[in-house]
Amino acid sequence: MNRIVLPGATLGVLGSGQLGRMFAIAARRMGYRVHTFSPGFDTPTGQVADVEIDADYDDLDAIRAFARQVDVITFEFENVTTTAADAAAEIVPVRPSGHALHITQQRAREKAFLRLKGFPVTPFESVESLDELTKAIDTVGLPAILKTAAFGYDGKGQHRITSPLDLEPVWGLVGHQAAVLERVVDFVLEFSVVAARGLDGAFVHYGAIENTHRDHVLDLSVAPARMPPETAAEAVAVTAAIMEELAYVGVLCVEFFLTADGKVLVNEIAPRPHNSGHLTIDACVTSQFEQQVRAICGLPLGSPAFVRSAAMSNLLGDVWSQGEPRWDAALAVPDVKLHLYGKRDPRPGRKMGHLTALGETPAEAIQKVLAARDVLV
Ligand code: AMP
Repeated sequence: MNRIVLPGATLGVLGSGQLGRMFAIAARRMGYRVHTFSPGFDTPTGQVADVEIDADYDDLDAIRAFARQVDVITFEFENVTTTAADAAAEIVPVRPSGHALHITQQRAREKAFLRLKGFPVTPFESVESLDELTKAIDTVGLPAILKTAAFGYDGKGQHRITSPLDLEPVWGLVGHQAAVLERVVDFVLEFSVVAARGLDGAFVHYGAIENTHRDHVLDLSVAPARMPPETAAEAVAVTAAIMEELAYVGVLCVEFFLTADGKVLVNEIAPRPHNSGHLTIDACVTSQFEQQVRAICGLPLGSPAFVRSAAMSNLLGDVWSQGEPRWDAALAVPDVKLHLYGKRDPRPGRKMGHLTALGETPAEAIQKVLAARDVLV
């Protein structure tokens, strides 16, 4: 099962969003063919893939038929069921494995794994009833956040609890499903580590990337993160150990909080390339997407070195509020790159694309990317 998948072969992607699109672009540049599988047509990935299959993830016959046409399968979002991943794995290698997917696709399971293995994680308790929630407040403390155990994305399904009076209404909102109660962390910085692990266990990483969120959605990423190098190194070591523990093959992102007293805490793990790593396309010798291609194909990983500092700003549907954005004005800002995902309907909050700017320093890159974003509307 561990043979190398060489250029010319066909890579299968479960999922069809922008992550699959940028993966497919990297793969096609290297001479691979790409097939994508999701419910839908003319998807961001389908637009650049060789073949687009429109079927449901729980249609296991369709999954098996898809697997027969490709040489290796990866996924670009973590809500693919492990049943689908396992059915595919009977036919071709699935990388990262269904096991890694299983652990990281459910918050309660992921946090339990992190705590069990001794990784630094935000104080939390898993709860399945109002009674358990009430008890959990005693161990976790207040203020706290109740999150659905099944991953919502971009902060969906999260509610703050500041007093015992909030318990009942918040439990009502979370919809009486399994949930995780987390202590609110008084962080000074949010950052991520994007890294890749090869079939042979080789490990490369892009250092710490600084992230700012707006309304729970990533707004700005900056690399390198402006934080003590020894703290960044500690987070990289945690990331490497998590990947080792999962026998991981592929790209993974760990999101961290840096607390006021200098501690790093894992917030969550994404078992795939990540929004905060998009700046590696323009700023690094090897992007996170090329790294994913190399890792799942059993090829040597590429140099993750940064050519320059970089800043990335997401472009949400809101940017279209006044009509078509002024792309020409944004592209007049030096060292700015535009990425659009081919989505037709710019709904508010929907990730439509991103801008990356390069600079001699992180501050210069931020200034350019914000200048470009500001002239869009
Ligand atoms: P998540 O979907 O869990 O990554 O949460 C989205 C965002 O909500 C995070 O990036 C933080 O900005 C914020 N957040 C989530 N959990 C916590 C926490 N325990 N303490 C403080 N802020 C949090």
